Amino acid sequence: MPRDIKLAYQKGTRAMDGKPGKNYWQNFGRYHINVTVNPPNRDVKGTEQITYINNSPDTLKVLNMKLIMNIHRPGAARLRGTGDDYLTEGIQIDTFKLDGKAKNWNNKRASRTNQGVALFKPLLPHDSVRLDIAWHFQLAKGGGREGAIDSTSFYLAYFYPRVAVYDDYNGWDGIEFVDAMEFYNDFNDYTLNVTVPKNFIVWATGTLQNPKQVLQPEYADRLEKSMTSDSTIHIATPKDLADKHITAQNDMNTWTWKANDISDMAVGISDHYDWDAASVVVDDAANRRASMQAAFLDKSEDFHHSVQFGRNALGWFSHNWPGIPYPFPKMTAFQGFADMEYPMMVNDSHNGNLAFSQLVQDHEIAHTYFPFYMGINESRYAFMDEGWATTYELLIGRTEIGNAKAENFYKQFRVESWIHDRSTSEDLPVITPSNELRGGYGNNAYGKPSLSYLALKDMLGDALFKKALHTYMDNWHGKHPIPWDYFNSMNSGSGKNLNWFFNNWFFTNYYDDLDLRNVTKTAGGYKVDIQNIGGFAIPFDVKLTYTDGTSESFHQTPVVWEKDQKRIAVIVKSSKTVKTAELDNGIYMDANESNNKWTAK
Ligand SMILES: [Zn+2]
Repeated sequence: MPRDIKLAYQKGTRAMDGKPGKNYWQNFGRYHINVTVNPPNRDVKGTEQITYINNSPDTLKVLNMKLIMNIHRPGAARLRGTGDDYLTEGIQIDTFKLDGKAKNWNNKRASRTNQGVALFKPLLPHDSVRLDIAWHFQLAKGGGREGAIDSTSFYLAYFYPRVAVYDDYNGWDGIEFVDAMEFYNDFNDYTLNVTVPKNFIVWATGTLQNPKQVLQPEYADRLEKSMTSDSTIHIATPKDLADKHITAQNDMNTWTWKANDISDMAVGISDHYDWDAASVVVDDAANRRASMQAAFLDKSEDFHHSVQFGRNALGWFSHNWPGIPYPFPKMTAFQGFADMEYPMMVNDSHNGNLAFSQLVQDHEIAHTYFPFYMGINESRYAFMDEGWATTYELLIGRTEIGNAKAENFYKQFRVESWIHDRSTSEDLPVITPSNELRGGYGNNAYGKPSLSYLALKDMLGDALFKKALHTYMDNWHGKHPIPWDYFNSMNSGSGKNLNWFFNNWFFTNYYDDLDLRNVTKTAGGYKVDIQNIGGFAIPFDVKLTYTDGTSESFHQTPVVWEKDQKRIAVIVKSSKTVKTAELDNGIYMDANESNNKWTAK
């Protein structure tokens, strides 16, 4: 446990039983945001009032503001290169007031995605400060996680100045956004007004407050009907869009959205996207339905399936894994380029392969639980959200395209590039803070942690694994868990000390590579000697082929590595004569398969 993390446990903000400590706190903001957009003009103008409440025991002299749009400035620190279309002048703050008093602001100096702002008077524990901010920026063209998708279809994300997270183990989150890793946000309450010209439709995070004001009665009715409909309602078709009578016919319409206890808001705008919607029961006990909506170009065949694919995902995640009712009232799939999650929204690219499209949408929807329901610090611990989304992608994929195809896909996209890459950076411990990684980021965030979650499921069995997972999720949803809260919660929830397992998977340079050393006859069967060259505590099958031509498979869960993670002997019962023996690691692909087989002499 690093020293800063140890201190959090000593201060009692976190507890070793896996729960938030008796001194746990997190800060909170109330955001009232207005933005005006007038496509095809890509300028976005915004004003906001933020009431920021300091629940910490600390007196804050500075606020750290997140200005993510500055990633578009020429010269911004980025992990990769970028094209000219991506570059803009970043966010321009027009006015910045603290408790009504104007603060000098130099847009040239405030050029990073973090900007510290000295307060006029210190913000005491349990006190609040009011911020009034006006800003503008130009949306970049295409390509990124937000921007102009076509001349009149825009996606707004990270589009407003927000107060960074101030937390108990790290203080202000000052990790720079470098267009690679993701985000870390407090749970805030939002009211968002989006003003656009007539005939533009707005989709956003949250619940639309004024459908009857911004939509013509026919379309407000269709939206209403979709809230109780299993089958897809075509709210806006190409013909409706061409007729230009979907929205109220004021010059400008203001669409109002509200969401409470949510980590961010995102917005899609278009005057020519189809709009489909239906809904699905996500909570049987409360008979609660969640709305599934899609906004897309009519020619995108895959998006015509988006609402039913989404209904399947919302229902499946609610009832199976993680088996917690979808925690929001809505999900909207908006066609773009990002293949990226936002609270209650996904922005996915069109893909000609329907199964692949479904898989990507499933992955992004799965993110609802991690990071959004669970308040994950994605900038620092990406494996706490991407690892789970990757895991759920496989679990739901098995039900959609069958075990073999889903596992093949998982191996191909999530394991193969890592296991066949000998680079030091690919084998850095998963616990390594994501913002310290470059080359190893992808595999440390997605494949390796996902394998650890699946290995633990294999070892504990589905029922106990779910009990432990729900203990973790009940302990920390709506809060900010760190990896040690996960480890501790899983220990408490399973009633087992799994530290050896977590140490093996998260704190080592291990990988997957087993060596089948020898097979010897015992009284009732065989002793199979295995050396773990790679080191990870993986499950595997011992496959014996007998002299009579038959074969048998013996599954071993990772528990076989509990006592010795280097060398073990597996005892299998058999009365037949063995001809060959083989280790099959399945999705835990072996770095060197040439030593996985044994043949009788
Ligand atoms: Zn993801």
